[in-house]
Amino acid sequence: MESRYRSEDAPSELLALRCYTSRLLGAEPSLVLHGGGNTSVKGTTRDFFGDPVEVCWVKGSGWDLASIEPAGFPAVRLRTLRRMAELEALSDVDMVREQRAALLDPGAPDPSIEAILHAILPHRFVDHTHADAVIALTNAPDGLGRVQALYGERALYVPYVMPGFVLARAVRQAIEGADWSKVEGIVLLQHGLFTFGDDAQTSYERTIRMVGEAERALEAAGALAAPVTAEPAELDPLALAALRGHASRVAGTALVAAADGSAEARGFASRHDVAAIATRGPLTPDHVIRTKRVPVVIDGDAGPAIEAFAANEAAYFARHAGPGHTPLDPAPRWAVVKGAGLVALGTSAKLARQTADIARHTARAIQWAEALGGWSPLGERDLFDMEYWELEQRKLRKGGVRPLLAGQIALVSGGASGIGRATAELFLEEGAAVCVLDKKPEVVERFRGEGALGLVCDVTSADEVDAAIARCVRRFGGLDLLVPNAGDFPPSKKIEALDDALFERTHALNLGAHLKLLRAAVPFLKLGVAPAVVFVASRNVPAPGPGAAAYSTAKAALNQLMRVAALELAEHGVRVSAIHPDKVFDTELWSAEKIALRAANYGISVDGYKRQNLLRAEVTSRDCAEAILALVRMRVTTGAQLPVDGGSDRVV
Ligand code: ZN
Repeated sequence: MESRYRSEDAPSELLALRCYTSRLLGAEPSLVLHGGGNTSVKGTTRDFFGDPVEVCWVKGSGWDLASIEPAGFPAVRLRTLRRMAELEALSDVDMVREQRAALLDPGAPDPSIEAILHAILPHRFVDHTHADAVIALTNAPDGLGRVQALYGERALYVPYVMPGFVLARAVRQAIEGADWSKVEGIVLLQHGLFTFGDDAQTSYERTIRMVGEAERALEAAGALAAPVTAEPAELDPLALAALRGHASRVAGTALVAAADGSAEARGFASRHDVAAIATRGPLTPDHVIRTKRVPVVIDGDAGPAIEAFAANEAAYFARHAGPGHTPLDPAPRWAVVKGAGLVALGTSAKLARQTADIARHTARAIQWAEALGGWSPLGERDLFDMEYWELEQRKLRKGGVRPLLAGQIALVSGGASGIGRATAELFLEEGAAVCVLDKKPEVVERFRGEGALGLVCDVTSADEVDAAIARCVRRFGGLDLLVPNAGDFPPSKKIEALDDALFERTHALNLGAHLKLLRAAVPFLKLGVAPAVVFVASRNVPAPGPGAAAYSTAKAALNQLMRVAALELAEHGVRVSAIHPDKVFDTELWSAEKIALRAANYGISVDGYKRQNLLRAEVTSRDCAEAILALVRMRVTTGAQLPVDGGSDRVV
């Protein structure tokens, strides 16, 4: 591990400097992952009245060291924090409340639960990480002896206790009479490392140096080279969807998956002893909230393995729960699929990806410690205390508003514009992971990110459709909601002038492509969570118009396809419906000239033409998206045809 500190990049202003070295720590995934770790700096500021006040700016909850800004460091009155450290006992709930009460700005985020620990260290800068190499050493046999041999008098050593007030008390005891001319850091066994210094560079570089020494110790023992690798390969989409579907049902909520078929993940999953070593415990208790204690190990069918995991979770809860404890859902948050790789699970694509990162680091550290003689992480009781910590339980009880489609996985065709785009955007707003297909390349840029995947796809090609669905499943773990939407409206032609080529082309896109999508999606929908299909049909189905034979026949057949699919798929719990939009002018089927021409034909204004319906309402793509969302939410509705047309006197 090398120092990334560059004097020329280091700002002079105190909080900017604190952000700078915090970000350097955050840039090393083997030091901290996704919100882990915390840092602080002490100094004097002025309160509202202009009086000087000594504070500790400590990382606020919800901030990540990799991207932290000055606003992520709430100022807490130092005197209050130090007085709290002198108390004999303090509940975590009281601690959090008193820490908030000691904020200079009551609107600031909650200070880290390690704020008291930061405050009692006499140094100006304090850095705390969960370095893989240090924890791997302390999670091996004679962990204390190993780190003592490494750091000697340069460190203090604190046995594992719960983070928060109890840990602050333990550290307070450990630093009593410390010789600060020698001590550069504190090793928290099975938890992580604290370093400090009177300037930012010293504190940061002490972390880097101590972690570097731990890495060299692992290397010298031959442990660093221990993780096994295998030829990378992607996981089978159907097996992945089955795993994710089972886990979601056991969780009682839809989960997104992040599969890892990298050389390292497959190497770990291929070890003959993986079932034994993967299930002893996590790298650090800090991870338990995201990963649970252990992964599920799957060798063959995912269903029975996940059921057995859930039964174990229930027994574990029964072994340790006290009167006030609320059980967490019993589904695993990561899986070792024997021979194939790792699969992480989360209620959003972001959480799943973060858990996948933690799982990869855990697998690596387990193999390091195995090479040192055996992976021996914390015991079950300590893990339970962390997982069912009062503060986490309170969060759980408070709940909060869950997006309507949280954890669900959707695929929308024709999503670069119009109804498809509005639907994909609404689904994303409602928490779904969304794969968006379009033949236009801009779809890739428009739908890129944690929960979005834009793919260029010609939906009239069965091969391209099959490949797109497989990519969606490999990325998110399954498919629950399908919105076949891509379509076009050909030029108006009376039947006697209608040529076969135009007729066939219109049917290929407005009918054949929808069949190809549905056919490829069905095996995955059967494994999905609250699965539903909504076809975008047309008002032309119940009320066709002259000059639109090709379009109207294609949409009518599409509607019939929907009805047959509703019959066939009901036994699998897949609901299938259609919307019938009309005159949705903010789509690519319409241009300003086309609208003006039609309005002129009828001898009415453009606005009048747009509102030519019973409700005199302009129908938008967003209205169609809302109707589609409503249909996928309707648990006991299938085979439905829902008009989205402002009311048509030809239909009602
Ligand atoms: Zn920590």
